[in-house]
Amino acid sequence: MARPRMLTGDRPTGQLHLGHYVGTLKNRIKHQHNYESFFLVADLHMLTTRNRPEDIQGTFENARHLVLDALAAGIEPEAVTFYLQSAVHEIHEMYTLLQNMVTVSRLERVPSLKDMAREANVKMSYGLLGYPVLQAADILCVRSNLVPVGKDNLAHVEIAREIARRFNGTYGNVFPIPESVVGDVPMLVGLDGQEKMSKSLNNAIFLADSPEVVARKVMDMVTDPNRTRADVPGTVEGNPVFIYHDAFNPNLAEVEDLKTRYRAGKVGDVEVKQKLAVAINNMLNPIRERRSLYETPGLVEQILYEGTKKVRAEVKQTLFDMQQAMGLTGVWNHIERKATLHSAFFGG
Ligand code: ATP
Ligand code: MG
Repeated sequence: MARPRMLTGDRPTGQLHLGHYVGTLKNRIKHQHNYESFFLVADLHMLTTRNRPEDIQGTFENARHLVLDALAAGIEPEAVTFYLQSAVHEIHEMYTLLQNMVTVSRLERVPSLKDMAREANVKMSYGLLGYPVLQAADILCVRSNLVPVGKDNLAHVEIAREIARRFNGTYGNVFPIPESVVGDVPMLVGLDGQEKMSKSLNNAIFLADSPEVVARKVMDMVTDPNRTRADVPGTVEGNPVFIYHDAFNPNLAEVEDLKTRYRAGKVGDVEVKQKLAVAINNMLNPIRERRSLYETPGLVEQILYEGTKKVRAEVKQTLFDMQQAMGLTGVWNHIERKATLHSAFFGG
C-alpha cells in the first residue's frame, strides 16, 4: 500500500539553526520513513523578501547548506526527495490556478506575513501576500498529507487546507487535506531574546557552528536584565537561557538545580551559560560527525538534480488532474480539434 506523504521546506536564505531543529527538523527526521517524504528548497519563497542580485547569487550556497544540514541532522538521502522549487515549473502554474481559491482579505489577516515584512524591512508585495498560496501549491503539488512546520508557518498550512477544500468542493476531489504538525518548541526565541530565532536575523546558533562559536554565542546571550549580580534573585520564566536549557539540556536534575539557585540568587550567569553550551554541543556533536560523511563534492547537486526530476514528473500529473477537474483541458482540446479541422479544409 502507498505510504502517506510528507512535505516540508526551507527558504535558501542561510543555514539551519536550533529553531529549525526543535520546530520542524526533529519531526521530519521522526517521520521520514513512515511517510514518502519531499523536502523543497523554497527559492521562490525567498524572493518574497529577498530579491536583490546578491541574494539570488547566494541561493546555491544556501541550498547546499540546507541539504547538508538536513542530512547531518539525520535525514537519510534514500528516504527523502529533495528538490528545487523554481525548477519545477508546474508549481508556478498550479500557483496561478490556486490564486482564485482564496480572498485578499483572508491573506491580509495572516499575521506572520506582516512579521516577515517587518523583519526583512520590506513593503508587503503582491508576492509576499501570496506566500501562503505558493506554499499551498508546494504542499498540494505532491498531494502531501503531513506538513511539519514551526508555529509561524501554521497559519499558512491552514490556508493550504482551505484552498484544498475549496478546490475539491468546486471542481471535484483532487487533493488530500494536509495536516500540520509542530515541534516540541513551536517557536524558539533568538539569542537576542526578542525575535524568533531566524536565519536572516543574526540571532541564531547554527547546526554547523563549531563548539567554540556555540560557547561564545551562549556567553553573549541576553538573560534576566534586572539581575546585575550573581546574588540577586533572577527570573527563570521567559528567560532565553532557561528556555534553551529546557529545550536542549536532557539533564533535568541539573536544569532544576540551576533554576532553583537562579531564583534564590545563588548561581552566576557564567555557570548557567557554561552548562548550556555543554548541553548544546553534546547535542550537536553527532550532527557534526555525520556532516563530514556527506561533504563529498557534487553529492548535494546530484541529490537535488535527481529529486527535482522525480518531483517534476509527479507534479505534471497533479497539474493535469487539476486542469482536467476544472475543464481546462477540455477547452484546449476543443480549440485544437477545431483548428486541425480548419487547416484540413483550408490548408495551413
Ligand atoms: P528566514 O529568516 O529566511 O525566514 P527562517 O529561519 O524563518 O528563515 P524558514 O525557512 O522561514 O526559516 O522556515 C523553515 C521552517 O522552520 C518553517 O517551518 C518554520 O516555521 C520553522 N522555523 C523557523 N524558525 C523557527 C524557530 N525559531 N522556531 C521554530 N520553528 C522555526
Ligand atoms: Mg521564516
